[in-house]
Amino acid sequence: MRETGSYDTEVLIVGAGPVGLTLAIDLGQRGVRATLIEQKSAPQRLPKMERCNARTMEMFRRMGLAERIRAAGLPAHCSMDVFIVTSLVDPPLLHLPYPSVAEAKKQIAACHDGTLPLEPYQLISQYTLEPLLKSVAETLPTVSLRYCHELISFAQDAQSVTAQIKGAGGGTSTIRAQYLVGCDGGSSIVRKTLGIKLAGEGNLLQLRQALYRCDDLYERIPIGKGRHYHVADAQSTQLIVQDDTRHFTLHSVVEKDEDMAAMFEKTCAMPVKFDMPYVGQWTQHLLLAERYGEGRVFLAGDAVHLVIPTGGLGMNTGAGDAVDLGWKLAATLQGWGGPGLLKSYEVERRQIGERNVAASTYAVRGRRVWRAAYKSDIRDNTPEGAATRANLARIANVEQRKTNEMIGAELGYRYVGSPVIWPEPGEGPAHDFMNYVPTTWPGAHLPHVWLDDSSAIQDRIGQGYTLLRLGGTQSDGAPLAAAFRSIGAPFSTLDVRSDAARDLYGHDLILLRPDLHVVWRGNRPPADPAKLAAIATGHQSA
Ligand SMILES: Cc1cc2nc3c(=O)[nH]c(=O)nc-3n(C[C@H](O)[C@H](O)[C@H](O)COP(=O)(O)OP(=O)(O)OC[C@H]3O[C@@H](n4cnc5c(N)ncnc54)[C@H](O)[C@@H]3O)c2cc1C
Repeated sequence: MRETGSYDTEVLIVGAGPVGLTLAIDLGQRGVRATLIEQKSAPQRLPKMERCNARTMEMFRRMGLAERIRAAGLPAHCSMDVFIVTSLVDPPLLHLPYPSVAEAKKQIAACHDGTLPLEPYQLISQYTLEPLLKSVAETLPTVSLRYCHELISFAQDAQSVTAQIKGAGGGTSTIRAQYLVGCDGGSSIVRKTLGIKLAGEGNLLQLRQALYRCDDLYERIPIGKGRHYHVADAQSTQLIVQDDTRHFTLHSVVEKDEDMAAMFEKTCAMPVKFDMPYVGQWTQHLLLAERYGEGRVFLAGDAVHLVIPTGGLGMNTGAGDAVDLGWKLAATLQGWGGPGLLKSYEVERRQIGERNVAASTYAVRGRRVWRAAYKSDIRDNTPEGAATRANLARIANVEQRKTNEMIGAELGYRYVGSPVIWPEPGEGPAHDFMNYVPTTWPGAHLPHVWLDDSSAIQDRIGQGYTLLRLGGTQSDGAPLAAAFRSIGAPFSTLDVRSDAARDLYGHDLILLRPDLHVVWRGNRPPADPAKLAAIATGHQSA
């Protein structure tokens, strides 16, 4: 029985960054009453992330948002290439080609071996994504968004969390919720209040970044269109094309804000007319929280993992947190989620946070290796200058790829040792940052496969648990259905005749949970369906 009585909301989300907004949408689409508070008055035009990776786009597809995000982001035909340059006019030292979204979609359409995801990546600036997510969250009847509302403090007891909120006028109010989720970024008050520490490498490098508007630069770049131009210099300069191709960001280690205008001109190395609406500083960290919450309070996104954006694993990891937590909160509030379900959030997502901090470390080390090959003669028209350029390009051709090609970190993560995943005997496939090997090993995300009618299997799977019956198996799914029914959990069976799916998945039966991660697989019905259903729903530990 769902308790609504004395609570102001079921879930109080603190922070309307991309992670808090994604969680609000996920909860709202599941009918959960959620209140999202944000200290700022509105989404800000601050340059931060700009690439949703393929897995995040698959999650947005399940929320019905992928096409809207693509329409608001970088046009599909635009280049996703990466360059290492001395300027935007000199011959590039290295050009790493990557498919545009249009090209990637064609590759995906032609791929039948499960090695490519259903959705390709999408470049969309965080300052475009946040207002879009906000506009979606606002349409959901059970979600309330409150900007200009700052969390001041909170306390929890066995039944609830009570938060003190400072409103726009400075007055305070109280919100009593069943759960609180801190999506409040790197300096999270929620994390600090719980006394949870971040461990790892903090304050590694301080850079300035600026946002520029320059309407014609993109069209005028003579050396080839791309999304990232890394400048081989002593300041770690990097130029990033934003989603409308009229805005750019530049990161550089310079002394003063004013230096960022000159650095932009130096990088462009051609006459440019531009505005610089924002300059700020940011600090690189590689940090992970010791825990992901306590009791009725959970943490997600930058509140628990801070990475260097090499590899784009910041927001993308946070979106994964939100999706893992969303259905577990809904299940618990709806009464069918057992006591172990929310506890599994930390087990599942902290290992991904740890892994992605390690992946980001791996990528940033690669970046440092090629940057160490910089010498001050790099622009000289001398044999020594040419040798410096050739040497740096040779090293970067290996090391820079670590940043841009971590497809295994993006797609291949698997929840190891989760109490809500069936413990199949054996080790399971090894994790590999650079390669994605499709697998249905329990804990993995279901690999994409096209069905015989050219539909994607993911699009055929509903929002509850699903038993896939593959390749015409006659195995009886009824006892498992009855076991889920007795718990009150949503369950359906999907018969998939496709040989391609059976071959790729390697088993006749696959049990999926609402987030498309595999709970169990086999060729015969589970020997103890009640136990499997109890584990999957958190009523019994694996
Ligand atoms: C230069 C740069 C480039 C990046 N590129 C990428 C990329 O390509 N891909 C990627 O995945 N990631 C990237 N990132 C990282 C990405 O920007 C962050 O991981 C992402 O913003 C984290 O989202 P979040 O919602 O967890 O936190 P945040 O975006 O930090 O949002 C937290 C929100 O909480 C609010 N808040 C804080 N305290 C309170 C309070 N007490 N009460 C109410 N509200 C509060 C804040 O105002 C803020 O709006 C990049 C970051 C930088 C700096």
